[in-house]
Amino acid sequence: MKRKKILPYGFQSISRDDIRSVSSALKNDFLTTGPFVEIFERQLKSLTQAKHAVACANGTAALHLACNAINLQKGDWVIVPSVTFLATANAVRFCGADVFFSDVDENTGQITPEILERAFKEADRKSLKIKAVIVVHLTGRPVNLKEISFITKKHKVTLIVDACHAIGGSYLGLPIGSCKYEDINTFSFHPVKSITTGEGGAITTNDKSLALTMKRARSHNMIRSETKGNWRYQMKNLGFNYRISDIQCALGINQLKKLDKFVQKRAALVCCYNKKFREFDGKVITPTLKDKEPETSIGWHLYSVVFNFSLLPITRSQLMKKLAEVGIYTQVHYIPVHSQPYYRKLYGSIKLPGSMQYFERTLSLPLFPKMKLNDVKYVVDHIKGFIL
Ligand SMILES: *Cc1c(COP(=O)(O)O)cnc(C)c1O
Repeated sequence: MKRKKILPYGFQSISRDDIRSVSSALKNDFLTTGPFVEIFERQLKSLTQAKHAVACANGTAALHLACNAINLQKGDWVIVPSVTFLATANAVRFCGADVFFSDVDENTGQITPEILERAFKEADRKSLKIKAVIVVHLTGRPVNLKEISFITKKHKVTLIVDACHAIGGSYLGLPIGSCKYEDINTFSFHPVKSITTGEGGAITTNDKSLALTMKRARSHNMIRSETKGNWRYQMKNLGFNYRISDIQCALGINQLKKLDKFVQKRAALVCCYNKKFREFDGKVITPTLKDKEPETSIGWHLYSVVFNFSLLPITRSQLMKKLAEVGIYTQVHYIPVHSQPYYRKLYGSIKLPGSMQYFERTLSLPLFPKMKLNDVKYVVDHIKGFIL
């Protein structure tokens, strides 16, 4: 790519071996649902140590298949943090169920066990039937799954993890997606995520029957007869076309080989950013492992910092504009989902102060494996010039 210091907030890493892998898939008999889908799923199982993996069309489809598999329906409510991508909440709505937006920690944008307990209490006061909780490993940093799973077990609800940011990291000695604490884990392979298949997603779980349900729903819930000839099929429930192609999985298989390298490079860039931001004494909160969890490493997807804009001579929009003028493209992750017109119309205006405070102060700076350590310096030096 010809670029003169154009730094997007995220970018895929495609090299010649990826192109070779996809080209060879195009010469095979199957372009979709062939051997590469199964190989990719097998490799995702071995990466995450989960018992089952189902690859699908995208991360949104993965979330929808998960919500569909636990039989979410009208009248059910699901607790979802407001600081996340639209898809986390929308998947609940696809099933006709309702979203109970939870607040998040104002400095990490993440749900904590205390905040989740508060959400349960409030839902209880309103006599809402909570059926599941979806948590998000925002930026790649894992939430406190261990304590969160105590809470969801106590309330007898399903725990789904949206790990679309977090592939390649680990939590308490186990890979992200292992499903030791959660019932279902979901991934996305969109180009900005840590590995890509162009479009793609996957679900991991240790529950055999959930895995089968999701696998069937991925392709219209067609169940083929084993005794009356393979051409006969039955559909007992509605399903979808959420298949992923062999072409995409060929790319995924090759990307997985490089995941460790990508994760290490991202960690090195994060470390370099954090060091450079130390000079900003207190004006910037940089991401760290909050609770110093043992045996936890982060597959960083985003480098999101929190600025105290009220103490700075510049607003976030002005800073973003100035950075864009020197080729540094930043992004805000995310506009709290509860504030979207669609959800405001459904649920009225909800007060989630932690979410709003995080949203108003966060900014995601460029982070992708092809970046150089010198690019980090370029970014931080410009920010320094604009705000210090
Ligand atoms: C990217 C993303 C999704 C959706 O994934 P797609 O593959 O784009 O459908 C869902 N949740 C989060 C947190 C994401 O970042």
